[in-house]
This record gives sequence, structure tokens and C-alpha cells, in this order.
Amino acid sequence: MPAESPAEFTLFPLLPPELRVKIWQTALLERNSIVELRALNDTIIPRSQPPKVLSINKESRYEALRAFRAHSNTLSFSNGGATQNQLYLLPKRDILYFSNDYKVATPSTVQGKMADMAGTLSLVASSLNEIDRAKIESLAIDIYEWSEVDHVRDIIRELLPFGGLKTLVVVMRDPVEKKSGTDRTFVEWPWAQRKQAYDLQTKLWKMSRHILRYHPGWREPTIKLRLAQFLDRPLFPWKKLIVGFSLAQYLFESFLSARQYQVLKNTRPPKVLANEVSQEVFDKSQAYGRAKAQFSFVSSLYGQIQNTAFIYYDILPKLWTLTGSWLLQFAPARFSGEISHSIVFVLTFIIIQQVLSLPTSIYSTFVLEEKFGFNKQTPKVFVTDILKSQMLAFILAPPILAGFLKIVQKTGNQFFYYLWLFGAALQVFMITVYPITILPLFNKLSPLDPGALKTGVEGLAARLNFPLKELYVIDGSKRSAHSNAYFFGLPWKKHIVIYDTLIEKSETEEVVAVLAHELGHWSLGHTTRLFAISQVHFFYIFSLFSVFINNKSLYKSFGFHTQMPIIIGFILFSDALAPMDTVIKLLMNILSRRYEFQADEFAQKLGYSSELAKSLIKLQIQNLSTMDADWMYATYHFSHPILSERLGALGWHGDKSGESVVDEKNDTAVKASGRDEL
Ligand SMILES: [Zn+2]
Repeated sequence: MPAESPAEFTLFPLLPPELRVKIWQTALLERNSIVELRALNDTIIPRSQPPKVLSINKESRYEALRAFRAHSNTLSFSNGGATQNQLYLLPKRDILYFSNDYKVATPSTVQGKMADMAGTLSLVASSLNEIDRAKIESLAIDIYEWSEVDHVRDIIRELLPFGGLKTLVVVMRDPVEKKSGTDRTFVEWPWAQRKQAYDLQTKLWKMSRHILRYHPGWREPTIKLRLAQFLDRPLFPWKKLIVGFSLAQYLFESFLSARQYQVLKNTRPPKVLANEVSQEVFDKSQAYGRAKAQFSFVSSLYGQIQNTAFIYYDILPKLWTLTGSWLLQFAPARFSGEISHSIVFVLTFIIIQQVLSLPTSIYSTFVLEEKFGFNKQTPKVFVTDILKSQMLAFILAPPILAGFLKIVQKTGNQFFYYLWLFGAALQVFMITVYPITILPLFNKLSPLDPGALKTGVEGLAARLNFPLKELYVIDGSKRSAHSNAYFFGLPWKKHIVIYDTLIEKSETEEVVAVLAHELGHWSLGHTTRLFAISQVHFFYIFSLFSVFINNKSLYKSFGFHTQMPIIIGFILFSDALAPMDTVIKLLMNILSRRYEFQADEFAQKLGYSSELAKSLIKLQIQNLSTMDADWMYATYHFSHPILSERLGALGWHGDKSGESVVDEKNDTAVKASGRDEL
């Protein structure tokens, strides 16, 4: 829960006067912009509190009055001559809101209420002088959706004396509102009742036309339909904060990329690699690196704009209401609960994101990778991959989401504990099921043919007591020419997968050396430790979430005024957590680089030092991986040490034969997307 701000700030009088004045001026603008008034017995009574700054102390009152006077922004209502009601107003910002008494409004009494509203407007117009009337730029009035056309016409006619009127907010009653304050806020009319909104809009439009016929000089105000709710002032400026976080992260990462871009402009390879790579390969790798960097400048800007637009235009609440109205229209009544709604919402969200990411992924695959000869995907493979992964999302998301929401709904305050257990079970399920059911949708796994390689790997596994169940070759070359190898499975039954591209490009001993490194990760307990760390991470996320889930101000600042859906809470919560994720990413990369050095050392001790070095160099050249890096960029982004560091640690001083490791004539570039590291 957000910490409560201290009730007292005793040092305030000691602040310099200029600063105090600034604070009073800011406080004046912090006031709710909706100034609510009622007409009672021919008197206009303010319902909203006058600005607090007027009554704090002499200094604040003086500053507030000065601000109002400077723009001659007080309205004086002459109420029957006896008393004068002063109203303080910032006309560019404030909305004068004439409200009705909601409690006694029923369809039968409403027509009288509407006649009263016309009377109120006429009273306001007559109790203000012409100069004051002209100051009013925004008016809000209550009109019920079932008002008769005649009453709507009478009300609009009463607007004619307000010469400066630019906006008319037509406010409707919020049937679900519960009282929690006196200040009001206006929100969009809910989708589910758009028919009533449409009807009322039509009435208003027709009557405005009617008035215009008789008063052609009338400057018709813009009419907005809104719903009035009591304002629960957010305790915390969540929206500003989250936009700020995301902008800061974007700027920080752009700064790192700009530093890295300078390194990519170097024309000579780093010393350790001087004998390993030809100038031609180095130039090409630098050019590839720069092309990727330029692309990422554009794509991350695109992502940032998307993100900000989503927040700025309240896309989440709009999408939530829209998907809710689909359910009402198309689904049977028993599917109208929060779980069904969340599933439809998330699936729609996934499709939107997929569509928005198309331009960048098409460019990356078919222009950027293509240019450097890495792309192996045909448009057909590209499209079917998208369709398959969408289908997968549609199969997997609903049960996972339903489980997640059910747990939060059922287990009360303890939900984070159960959620964590659920997540761990899910992970184990995915580890066992993913390789046999999902991976084959995208790639073909076939058992490795018997031969020198199979014997070599099996020998290595036996030497390390690795519970090897099966050895596979994966057709990575279908999409990319990424060269790699990895293992998966439960602790007692493991499978090793080798990319066909790795086998094709390397000597048998080099492939075994690569696996010695990979099995080093297993033997040194890296995989187990990373799994444990991810469990701690999940636990920490879920327990923090349990604190956030009831945070009304978080929901409200993102446009969720009446509902607090769990899934939305989780999305907003992850956004708020982004700065923490940045730190965690940095720490995880530092740890991961340490593990890589350890796994290299492991392979070295098994006697694969030079084979591993050779295959690292080969992979580097085949993948045109970046040869050198800015230290800040590398520290933040890289999960693996750069090649020169690894070769240094392996004690590599070049091949004794004096020949380059790579037969350059045969070295056509191979690779594409995915992991290209060991
Ligand atoms: Zn590794």
C-alpha cells in the first residue's frame, strides 16, 4: 500500500516566499475542475467546496484572490438583491455543473426535473451580468436519457444568453454509483448503454438544429455526453509515474544503444580476434551490427509510441468495455462472469499486439536478415508460424488464465502462495510437455543417426553421469541458420538437442566441446539454481501483487472507475514494476555471464579447450555476431561474455598450425533469428 504522506510539514514557513507562492498557485490548479451548483428557491447554491487555498492562511488567500482577480474570474450571482454569492472560477479550465437531485428522479418525476433545469439555466443567466455570462466557456447540465424532446429544446434555448459557451457537457445519471465524496468527475458513458446515449444524442442534435433555425447567429457549443461520478481522488499519480518509468527506461536504453553504435563504427577488430577474422568478415559483422542497431532505434521508438498511446487514450478500459459488450451480445448468460470476460479480453489483446508487431517483424525478417543472407523463412513459413502461435495462445491462454483468476478469487488474502504453487506446477508441465507437443509444431526433431558424433556425446554424458535419454537433431535451418545445442527434460530423464546447422558447420570434436560446455551448466548446478531463482522471483511478484490488487487509485488513474478486474490489475501492476525488472535483468545478466565463464572452464578441464575456442570463433563468424561491445551496453544487455573475453579466459592464443580456424572460402554466412549463443 502506498505510504501515507505525513500530515504535517512544520518546516513550510521556513521555505523562501517565492517557493511558497508557487506552492499556493499549484494548489489552486489541483482543485477539482468541476464546480457543482444547484438552484434552490430561486437561489444559486454552490455544492462544491470553494478552493481550499482561499482559507488556509492570509498568504494563500492573498495569492488565490490575486490569481482570480488577475483574470477577473469571479462570478457574482445576485440572488434577489439581498445577498451576493461569489464564485471563483478559472474559465479556461473549470466546468460549471448544474446538477439535479438524483435521489428523487424516477421516470415519472423526470419531466418536471427537466422543466426545472430550464428554469435553473434561466435563473443563472439572469443573476449574472453580461460580462460574467460571457466568461463561462464550459457548462455541464443533467439531462435524463428519457427526457421529452420539448424539454430538451427548452433547455438548449436557455443556453442562448451564454455568449462565450464553447462546450456543453450533457451529464447522465450513473445508476451504479456509490457515494464516497462530494466532488464529481465525468467519465465516458458505458458501452453497454450506448443505445440510450445514441437516442439522447439524436434528440440533442435535432433540437440544436431547431434552435439554429430561429437564431442563425448562435454559436452552437460542442456537446459531450458524460456520466457523473463522485470523485475518489487518486492518492498517487500512477499514470504519470508509469509513463515516466517507461520513458526513463526507453531513454536509458537508447543512450546505451548510442554508445554501442559508436563501437560498431570501429574499422579494426579487437586484438584477440585480429588473427581469427579477416577484415572482410569484420566489416560485414560491423555493418550487420549497425543495421540491427538502426532497426532497433526505429522499432523501440515505435514500441514506445504504442505504449504511451495505449495509456494516453485509455485503450485498456475501452477494450475491457468493448469485450464485455461482445459477451453480452454473443455469449450465453453463464459466460458473462469475470473469467470469461478476462479470457476474451486477453485474446483480443494478443491479436491486437500481433497485428501491431507485424510491420517490424516483417521488416526484420524479409529486409534486414535477408540483406545479410540469414533469412531462411519463406513468406509461407512466416505466416503459418504466426497462425500456429496464435492458435497455441488460443488453446493455452484460456485454461491458464481461468486457473489464475479462480485462485485469486477463491483463496482470499493467501492467494499469492497458491498462485506461486500453480506457477511452479505449470512450469514443470511446460518443461515436460513443450518439447513433445509444441516444439514439433514449429520444428522437426529426429533422433541423431549413429556415428562418431553420437558415440562422442554419449561418452561425454556417461563420463558426467548425465541422465541422457535421447539425442535429437533439430532442423533449425528451416528458419534460421542458428547454430546451437541445448538439453531439456526432468532431472532424471534428459534429452539433448543439436541444431543441424551446428553439425554441418563443425568438426565432430567441436560439437562435443559445445556440449561439454552445455553439460557444464547442468553439472555445476546452473540450471537448478536458475530455476530456484525464478521461483523466488515469481513468489516476490505474486506477493507484491497481493498488495496492489486492491489499490483503487491504480485502477482509477487508468480509467477503471467502477470495476476492478483482476487481470487488469495484474497488467497495470507489471507496468508499475518495470523499473524493478530492469534491475533484475541487469543482475541476472551479471550472474549469467559468470555461469558462462564457469561452463567454459568446465569444458576446458575436460580437455576441450581448443575445440571449444574454435567452435566459438566459428559460431561468431557464421552468425556475424558483434565482435566488440561498449562495456555499459554489454553489462546491461548481454547474457554471455563477448568472444574476446571468453577466448582470453580459455587461454586461446590462436591455432598452432597458424591457419585461420575458418576456411573462409566455404564460409557463407548462415543464421537468422533466435538464440545464437552457447
Ligand atoms: Zn552457456
